[in-house]
Amino acid sequence: MVLLLKTTQELLTERNKDKIKVGFVPTMGNLHAGHISLLKRALSDYDVVYFSIFVNPKQFGPQEDFNRYPRTLEQDLALIEALEKEYQNKKVIVFAPARAEEIYPPGFAQTVSVRGDISEILEGAIRPGHFDGVSTVVFQLFDLIKPQEAYFGLKDYQQYLVIKHMVNDLLLPIKITGMPIIREESGLALSSRNQYLSEQDKIVSLTLSKTLLKLKKLIDGKKENLEMANQEVEQTLKDKNWNYLEIRDADTLSTDLTNSKEVTILAVYQLGTTRLLDNLQVTIS
Ligand code: AMP
Repeated sequence: MVLLLKTTQELLTERNKDKIKVGFVPTMGNLHAGHISLLKRALSDYDVVYFSIFVNPKQFGPQEDFNRYPRTLEQDLALIEALEKEYQNKKVIVFAPARAEEIYPPGFAQTVSVRGDISEILEGAIRPGHFDGVSTVVFQLFDLIKPQEAYFGLKDYQQYLVIKHMVNDLLLPIKITGMPIIREESGLALSSRNQYLSEQDKIVSLTLSKTLLKLKKLIDGKKENLEMANQEVEQTLKDKNWNYLEIRDADTLSTDLTNSKEVTILAVYQLGTTRLLDNLQVTIS
C-alpha cells in the first residue's frame, strides 16, 4: 500500500523514522509514462522511493497555466499503487503537499537562484523567474527528504543542468540522474501539457521531433557538419511557431562548440498557447 503524506510534519516524522538511503522523483503529477520511467528506475535502485506531486506556484509566470494545470491525484496514486505491487518488498512514499504552505511557510522569503547563462538563456529568457522557482522548490524538497539520488527527465534538459549546477554549488550530497525522454510512437515527447493539443495540433507538432532528428542526421556525429546544421536551423526558423531551435554544448549550453564532445539540439515549438519542449543529444568528434 502506497503511503500518502500531505503535510511536511508527516513527511519529516516518516523520514526520520527510517534514516535509510532513498531515491527521489519530484513531479507536478498528472502522471504519464515519462514520470513512470523515472519511478521504475528509482525503484530498481532503492528499496524506498519518495515521489513528490506538487504543482509549484513559484515556477509559473503570471500569464501561465498554473490554475488550469491538470491535477489528478487519485489517478496518479492508482498508477503508483499498481507499479509498487510489481516491485516486491519495495516501498513508494508519495508526498503530495495539501497546500503550498507545506513547502513555503508563511512569510517565506528565500530564493535559490542559479545565476549565469545556464538559467538565463532559452527557457530562462522566455520564462523569467522560472528556474528560480524550480531550484527553490527542488532545494526545499531535497532538504526535507534528503535523498541519496534524485531522478530528472532529460525532456527538461535545461532544468536538469540547472539542478546539477545547484547541487554542485551548494555541496548537496545528492546524485542527479538524467533519464531518457519517453515519446509517443509518433515521436512526440510525452508531456502533461500535450492534452491541451487538438488532433490537428498533434499532427503539426510532429514537426518538432522530426526536425530534431533531421538535424541529428545532418550533423552525423561530425563537428564539420555543424555549420551546415546551423544553416538548416536558420531556414527552419522561418516557421514562426518556433520559440527557439538551437544547437548548444551539451554540458554548458554555450554556443561555442569548438571543444564540444556532445551537443544538444534544444527546441520549443508553440501551438496556440501550448509550448512543446524537446531536445536531442548528439555526440560529435
Ligand atoms: P513534471 O511533472 O512535468 O514537472 O515532470 C517531472 C519529471 O518528469 C521531470 O524530471 C521531467 O523532466 C520528467 N519528464 C516529463 N516528461 C518526460 C518524458 N516524456 N520522458 C522522460 N521524463 C519526463
